[in-house]
Amino acid sequence: MSENSVCKICRRMGQKLFLKGEKCSSPKCPIIKKPYPPGQKAKRRRRRGGSEYGKELREKQKLRNWYGVSERQFKKYIKQILSKRGKIEDTALELIKKLEKRLDNVVLRLGFAHSRAQARQLVSHGYFLVRGRSCNIASFEVRKGDVISLKKQKQEKPFFKELSISLKKFQPPSWLELNSKKMEGKVIGEPSFEESGAPAEISSIFEFYSR
Ligand code: SF4
Repeated sequence: MSENSVCKICRRMGQKLFLKGEKCSSPKCPIIKKPYPPGQKAKRRRRRGGSEYGKELREKQKLRNWYGVSERQFKKYIKQILSKRGKIEDTALELIKKLEKRLDNVVLRLGFAHSRAQARQLVSHGYFLVRGRSCNIASFEVRKGDVISLKKQKQEKPFFKELSISLKKFQPPSWLELNSKKMEGKVIGEPSFEESGAPAEISSIFEFYSR
């Protein structure tokens, strides 16, 4: 996806989804200059409340894009959770846990990448080990106790040499433990809704798929 089309997702959703790493926190973020949906006549268009269906769709798209997950994979997560409804106390939290425990997200949360897109690319190019074994599956679900480490030979790359300096001060979420010296992280707990920073109203997403 090109740079512009990624930023258009934020403009369409009407809020920052932080899909571009460092650029998102800089004045170069396009949503600052163009806080309206993309399209020639968009400036004149007003954001309207829209239908209930429209709102649910927007919430779903926000969360799906935030985690950079395909529609197919996202629907799979929802179906897995809905099939266990009754046995799960908090379906919204369960969805967040599934999304947070994806290997690409964990790589981002540990500070090994600047954006999820970059994290996914690093994972699919085989940069990481999980429990000592190479894993190039971005959707791989980590478990408590798993150690995620950057392969030794990759640590020599200039990107990671530079990163290892800033990682000394990096604070991952409380469910992850970072060892910046070894360039590895450990899953020590469970993700929480608060720490995820997820920008969507999850109940609307379940409503959307329950129609
Ligand atoms: Fe682009 Fe990031 Fe700004 Fe979204 S938050 S518009 S991805 S720079």
